[in-house]
Amino acid sequence: DELISQIAAGEVVERPASVVRELVDNALDAGATQITLRLLAGGVRLISVEDDGGGIPMAELPVALKRHATSKIANLDDLESVGTMGFRGEALAAINSIADMAILSRATGHASAYLLDGRSGELRPVARSAGTTVEVKELFFSTPARRKFLKTDATELAHCIEAVRRHALARPDVGFAIWHEGKLVEQWRACPHPDAMDALTQRLRDVLGDDFVEQSVAVDYRSSAHKRPHEEDGLPPVRVWGRAGIPDASRARPDQQFAYVNGRFVRDKVITHAARSAYEDVLHGQRQPVYALYVAIEPNRVDVNVHPTKIEVRFRDSREVHQAVRHAVDDALAAPRA
Ligand code: ADP
Ligand code: MG
Repeated sequence: DELISQIAAGEVVERPASVVRELVDNALDAGATQITLRLLAGGVRLISVEDDGGGIPMAELPVALKRHATSKIANLDDLESVGTMGFRGEALAAINSIADMAILSRATGHASAYLLDGRSGELRPVARSAGTTVEVKELFFSTPARRKFLKTDATELAHCIEAVRRHALARPDVGFAIWHEGKLVEQWRACPHPDAMDALTQRLRDVLGDDFVEQSVAVDYRSSAHKRPHEEDGLPPVRVWGRAGIPDASRARPDQQFAYVNGRFVRDKVITHAARSAYEDVLHGQRQPVYALYVAIEPNRVDVNVHPTKIEVRFRDSREVHQAVRHAVDDALAAPRA
């Protein structure tokens, strides 16, 4: 089982940033409003992710480390409508097989907190407020071949920050802080705006910079609003919102293309192609567009269980999504700039 876990780990964990992504997913699934990362040596020596979410009751702590243990779906039907970031129950087991791991947690409404040592399985009481901290030390210590492939600490740190950035752009309502070697390197405060669009704009400012917001237009589109009566197909609408940027030549960077489907960061050819084609007349294919686009679609019209890291999705009808994204960006770019 150790071997199977290590093989699974190879699919899920490529580098420290993969661990960061999984642990932040878990914190968000637990309802955290503040997530704090502490890293040493680009995450290779330590990744600690602390949240103020619902926590894990003592009796369930050892279960969380078991392969295919997930508290998030009860049966296959639930996969059709999965609303959490995680559901495969693989991440913690996989990480535990390739690093020294400890979970400290206090469940909401419980009087005490417990620490589970991933190696020995030992459970002991500790002091902490409600929430969970997962500590991952010496990643790949037992698989030196993999450890050799890691880049410099600075590069691994950059990847870790990028992983958190992706989450931060999806959740303006959650605060994030990243510490490296005892120094605060990034901090994005929870945005208190009651209006979701204002909150998103503020978060985009904080994470991508004022330039991104000032050189972009708002995207806000709903497929059903654009259909003529004879086009009504009875399908639930696809919503697309966010901001589409008009980069100036000096600043265009391909790493400023963020696409989300139902709150999940994705790399998706359908969305990329649709956005790019909307930009055709503006950029003439010579520069990279920059954007943060959020697609909301009925969960049963998208399969998120395509890839272990869930970064790829498969749409039931990719034309429907392509059209929505294309129209959404077209409309935004054609509108007078505001
Ligand atoms: P998955 O997220 O797919 O369910 P994981 O291996 O990532 O699988 O986590 C296993 C289980 O551990 C989760 O289903 C959840 O019950 C629990 N868990 C992990 N991290 C946290 C956290 N930060 N707060 C609360 N529960 C957690
Ligand atoms: Mg998970």
